[in-house]
Amino acid sequence: MAITQILVVDDELELERLIKQRFRKKIKAQEFDFTFAYNGLEALEILKLDQQIDVILTDIRMPKMNGIDLIGALPNIDDTLKAIVMSSYGDLSNIRMAMNRGAFDFLTKPIDFQDLEATIYKTKEFVCKIRSQKNRLKNAFEKLRYQASHDQLTGLPNQRSMVARIGNFFETVNSEIFPFFILFIHIDNFKSIKYGLGHVFSEELLVEVARRLEICVPSADRIARIGTDEFAILLSNLQDQQEVEVTTNQIHQVLQQPFHLNQLMVSAKAYIGIIDSTIGYCQPIDFLRAADTAMHYAKTDGTVNTATFTTLMQTNATQRIELESDLQIALRNEQLSLNYQPIISIATGQLVGVEALVRWCHPQRGWIPPLEFVRLAEETGLIIFLGRWVLVTACRQLGLWQQQFPQGCPPNISVNLSAVQLWHPDFLHLIDDTLKLSGLHGSHLHLEITESVLMEKGPDAIQLLEQLKERQIQLSIDDFGTGYSSLAYLQSFSIDTLKIDRSFVGGLGQDQKKLDIVQTIVSLAHTLSLNVTAEGIETEEQLAILRSLSCDYGQGYFFSRPLPEAKMVDYLAAVNA
Ligand code: C2E
Ligand code: CA
Ligand code: CA
Repeated sequence: MAITQILVVDDELELERLIKQRFRKKIKAQEFDFTFAYNGLEALEILKLDQQIDVILTDIRMPKMNGIDLIGALPNIDDTLKAIVMSSYGDLSNIRMAMNRGAFDFLTKPIDFQDLEATIYKTKEFVCKIRSQKNRLKNAFEKLRYQASHDQLTGLPNQRSMVARIGNFFETVNSEIFPFFILFIHIDNFKSIKYGLGHVFSEELLVEVARRLEICVPSADRIARIGTDEFAILLSNLQDQQEVEVTTNQIHQVLQQPFHLNQLMVSAKAYIGIIDSTIGYCQPIDFLRAADTAMHYAKTDGTVNTATFTTLMQTNATQRIELESDLQIALRNEQLSLNYQPIISIATGQLVGVEALVRWCHPQRGWIPPLEFVRLAEETGLIIFLGRWVLVTACRQLGLWQQQFPQGCPPNISVNLSAVQLWHPDFLHLIDDTLKLSGLHGSHLHLEITESVLMEKGPDAIQLLEQLKERQIQLSIDDFGTGYSSLAYLQSFSIDTLKIDRSFVGGLGQDQKKLDIVQTIVSLAHTLSLNVTAEGIETEEQLAILRSLSCDYGQGYFFSRPLPEAKMVDYLAAVNA
């Protein structure tokens, strides 16, 4: 049994002697340990120093501070402490007062030591019970507090604690003399890993990412998981600014090392945004936002994987928000239109199709390049509406031309699709409804997708493309050669056409390497029974080379620029004349 610590408070020295004598054995056996104080004040001093006391035995009448005041002061020191009052007969009113103040029990003097022993045990038992209850509560509370400030999956602090930490730093450290840095890390391919390998493995990836980040940053409490695939790191105490660069490089390195998930090896592609505390913000959340903005900048830039925040980025971010809202208005107010670019058979010179290309005339800014607003629409989800509008308009247009030009109508129309559209649950419904509404047969519709879209989805993509094939819709891989896929890989997808990116076609005639690439693509595509369309033909020479390589179709300024509807009608009329 654990030793019971008893504090005896009495100005009567005789009691001390008696206790020591009567409990000699228990003291020796380390069952009881007595401490003696001679008045209330002394007792309080001892209690403040020594938190081990279990039971207090106190007299009532003492100099300096009496027992009743002592009992009244106990809760301030430790509210689990209980006192037994020792008092003479006839002291009844005092005993009542002591009980009212919270005394646990009372004994009358002269003390019956057997009774005292029993009372000490009883009190100790009670105190232990409260203390263990209190401990349980404290543990539960701490667990709750931990859960509220930590990410359950990785065990790292969460966004809330990161914000608190930054705030704390800001208040206690002069950031001009001791600057700190926030890194915002986004695992860019997390979603494709999640779709490809499933929930369990993608969570495993995040846990492993967290462990690897801990290797790069010595104090783990400076790392937080602040979003599904987002982490933040607070860097301080740096010798010089180069250390930030060293750390970010190290992070990229450790994340590029393969992760072993479900017997596959994948690597995490990260983008990092950095912000320096000297930027002059006052709110911790602003730092995180700015680091996020810098991360986005790195992500959309395409040439870097890390960027440090500048105020110019903020301006760009604000402009993007304005542009997003303008695009929503554009969608409603018919500021969008389609241009059509003819696609020509290289062997016969005949029109084999048109590609629909979206255009936006902004009321203040004029024409905005599609690459700019298409990417914005993809990032904000607006592409679902934009893409639907393009698909419906393009199909309806071809339906009208089929009636208007029964002879020389373009046999089909090509529509560009973004990944987000393709994976939207309503995609196939949209296709069916659109075909029905425009009276178009599926074989007249070509969909253009980029290779990365297929790479990301693997088996799911195969299934979806097959469903499109059932509707006899033709499928093209756009910008072929700029991604990573191999032709052999493409075999598993039901594809009809490869469109060679115009960066290769543009170099034909000057650059032997480009010629080799185009030649290889054409001959391998033909081996796989795929058609090839060359994009961006601008010169007679390029066309001649492509003809000699037996490239099937061509598209480019040499034949025609993308034309607005009215001009396209003129074009078709001329073809029919
Ligand atoms: P893309 O699908 O590769 O479209 C071909 C781009 O090359 C078009 O640019 C076209 O105007 C341009 N082009 C055609 N022939 C020539 C040429 O001989 N020389 C040069 N230098 N350029 C030529 P545009 O219209 O600016 O579109 C750019 C990109 O925007 C498209 O590239 C496509 O990725 C995207 N886009 C356009 N419309 C849509 C759309 O409706 N939906 C989606 N998701 N993306 C679209
Ligand atoms: Ca295209
Ligand atoms: Ca293209």
